This record gives sequence, structure tokens and C-alpha cells, in this order.
Amino acid sequence: MNKQVKFAIIAIIIVIPLSSYSVWASDSSLQIREATSFSKLQAIASFYPLYEFAQQVGQDKVNVQLLVPEGVEPHDWEPTIQDVQLIQKSDFIIINGFGFENWVESLGEMNYQGIVVDTSSQIIKNNDEKSILFKNDPHIWLNPILAKTQVQTIADEFSKSDPQNKNFYQKNAQSYTLELDKLDSKIRNDLSTCSQDFIAFHDAFSYFAYEYNLHQHTILSSNDPHSEPTAKTLENIINTARELKINIIFTEDTTDPRVSGVIANEINGKVLVLSPLEISDDGNYISRMTENLDNLKEALC
Ligand SMILES: [Zn+2]
Repeated sequence: MNKQVKFAIIAIIIVIPLSSYSVWASDSSLQIREATSFSKLQAIASFYPLYEFAQQVGQDKVNVQLLVPEGVEPHDWEPTIQDVQLIQKSDFIIINGFGFENWVESLGEMNYQGIVVDTSSQIIKNNDEKSILFKNDPHIWLNPILAKTQVQTIADEFSKSDPQNKNFYQKNAQSYTLELDKLDSKIRNDLSTCSQDFIAFHDAFSYFAYEYNLHQHTILSSNDPHSEPTAKTLENIINTARELKINIIFTEDTTDPRVSGVIANEINGKVLVLSPLEISDDGNYISRMTENLDNLKEALC
């Protein structure tokens, strides 16, 4: 055999399998990458509590992203162009509903093809009396009983889209629901013998107050924490505090505590936090609701 031919044959034997192996290897790693990013359901939660509820239900089978950036208050928030692109790629958008997310109306213009999970949908049907009483209040997540319905609605939508993992989603929803039940019993027991009137910052605790037989008064007579209190509203709330012998004035974790401080000074009272849980922090839904309970106990018991 000619030396040159022999060299060519050896080259072919060595090079061909190697190159075909490398083609196969890169194909397969591409397939793995595609499988991991596309087989997981992609969900976007509009703001903090829904983000946590969706994670509790979906766990490692659903990739949940928070739409409103961390630290940003979700009232009046509008998506950017990047957010719209993220929305368009998602399988689910999980919203609170009850008018909390104004931008939902423009999903049609965004040409969104996925599923909108409105976690208030079953609450309207099952709680007619409440939906009439509180038609202007979107803060359903602050009532653990209604939060359970929100969790179940998320589990049902995940189950419909991914029936193979239906038991997984339903089981996760059940175990989280047990946690919410424990929280509910604790709030009910701890507040049952205490006084009922409290002064919150914005009008966020109607469903909570209704559930636990409390009376909410607010510094801002609005569902929107960005509105400004007037001299008249401050005077009214100071009078309310005096009449009802209230000595704790609540503020929120994301609002300027000086507004509540002005009122507290007038009545020789104290400012504590009652969080509407609208933005994320180090805690979780249960721990933060328990902090709210502790502060309510200091105010009412
Ligand atoms: Zn609010």
C-alpha cells in the first residue's frame, strides 16, 4: 500500500467517527437544553403572594417568575416592553383579578396565546355576598380562606394543562391548604376575645376584617396606597381613634411611617406595621401574616 493512501485511510477512520460523535453529542446536548426549558411549564405571577402560591403548587415542575419587580408596589404598575416579551413566552399568567391588574385589559393587544389564571374567578362564584360587599377591594389574598381558593384555582389550571402531573399539583395544593387552615385557626383563636376596631393605612383589609369579625378603619379612604391623605381625612381618623380608644396606628412596610406617626402623636399612641403583603421580603405568606397577627394582638388584645 502506498504510504499516502494508508495515511488517508487512517485519517478517515480516526476523523469520521470523531466528527460524527461530536455532531451527535452537540445534538443531544441541544435536545437536553430544549427539554429542560420547554418541558417545564412557564408561569408568570403578577405579584408577590401569587408568586408564592404558584411555587407552592408547581414546585419543581413549573418555572414561576414574578412580573412586578422586587420591591415595586403592584398598584398602578404597568408592564414594560421586556415584560410584554416575557408574558408572550409564558404558558400562564396568574393574576389576582377583581381589577387589581389594570394591564390585563391589554393582553389582547399583546397577542397573548397562553392561559390567564384569574385566581378570583371562583371567589366571585362562591362568595356572592362578599363580592357585593367588597366590590371595590381587590385584596382577597389577605384572607387565608380566600387565599385557599386562589391556591386551588392555580392547582386546577396547572392540572388541566399538565394532566400527567395532576396528582402532584393537587397534593401540593392540599398540603399548603393545611398550612393556611392552621393560620386561619390561629388568627381566629388569638383575636376572638379582643376588641374589634383597628386603623389600617390603606383600604386593604376588608376581607380579613370580615372573616375575623373586626372593623377596619383606614387613614386613606382608598384601595390605592399612593393617594394622599388630606387634612380632613387625618382629622377624621384622629377623632375615630379617640372615640374608639384606639392607641395603635398601623403603617405599611412600603409606606412613609410619618403619616401614621402624625396621628399616633395626636393620640399618644404608637405606630406598628400591618402589611398588605404586596411586595416580597425575607419572609413568606404564613410568616408575614403571623407578624401581622402579632401586631394586631398588640393593638386589640
Ligand atoms: Zn393594596
